[in-house]
Amino acid sequence: MRRISKNVTAEFYYWGCNPAVLHTSDGAILFDTPQQPIDAVRWREQIIERSGRIRYLVNTEPHADHTQGNAYFPGVEVVGQRGLAVRYAKDLNMLPAITGEPHVEHLKRSDPDSVWLAESPDYPANPPTTLFDDELVLQIGDHEVRILHHPGHTAMQTAIHIPSEHVVITGDNVFSGVRTFLQEADPWALLQRLEDLRGLDVETIIPGHGEPVGVEYLVTQEQIIRNWLGTVESFVDKGLTLADAFAQPLDVKRDIDPYEMDQRLWQHREWLNRANIANLYDKVCRARGVESDLGGYVLYEDLAMAQEIPD
Ligand SMILES: [Zn+2]
Repeated sequence: MRRISKNVTAEFYYWGCNPAVLHTSDGAILFDTPQQPIDAVRWREQIIERSGRIRYLVNTEPHADHTQGNAYFPGVEVVGQRGLAVRYAKDLNMLPAITGEPHVEHLKRSDPDSVWLAESPDYPANPPTTLFDDELVLQIGDHEVRILHHPGHTAMQTAIHIPSEHVVITGDNVFSGVRTFLQEADPWALLQRLEDLRGLDVETIIPGHGEPVGVEYLVTQEQIIRNWLGTVESFVDKGLTLADAFAQPLDVKRDIDPYEMDQRLWQHREWLNRANIANLYDKVCRARGVESDLGGYVLYEDLAMAQEIPD
């Protein structure tokens, strides 16, 4: 657990996202959760030791590396943007590795220390139930916490600004020093959000993945998004189908995003390149009013939203 400001701490070395905490005079507020069950229960214990109790948990986005650990904070009220509640239920069911027997089998191979915590009746799913549309301001103890709808990386993306600490927590609208995921991003909205972040009174950005950074890093993040967008726009300009676009020679590290994949995500590198291209291809085609020929490829967002919500 690393101190980021007087009362904010965060963790950067877990497998998964960067969970963060604000410690107030009246308990702690959590921002996202460790993905792995054993990390989540250890994280919870450290927070309770320091702050006595946990008042709220705020999710920045629906991706499982940010929300899967919610279950390990039973009884804690979860705050989320309105669109997050639907996706929480769907995403838990989306990947075989997230729920049920396949989840346990996956953990046996990938994280044996977490197996005994999976599927435990003590840790049922913990969806967001305090929902907001544009903005929610919480006054907790001696702190004001501004929870802002910041669509970009996902449509329900949320940033948390803590003015007294000069900190903003962005989820995956910012990846610092690690490969950027744009599998369902609206690139133009995302560029606007990076501009919005510059307007906040902030010294430190806690990104979804990678090290904490100052606002000066936003130029780098913006360039990576523009590189991806420009590359895919050139494919659309040539009239390529998505299959043709996938077949184009591309040196992502040299020409688009110089950073490596972050914690334990290296095996998804090729999947990510295609997911970024496919999403941007579809977004650019739609923006230009030309046919988006995906050739049967299912976009990440459509896959997530196609799932049945379990009873
Ligand atoms: Zn994400």
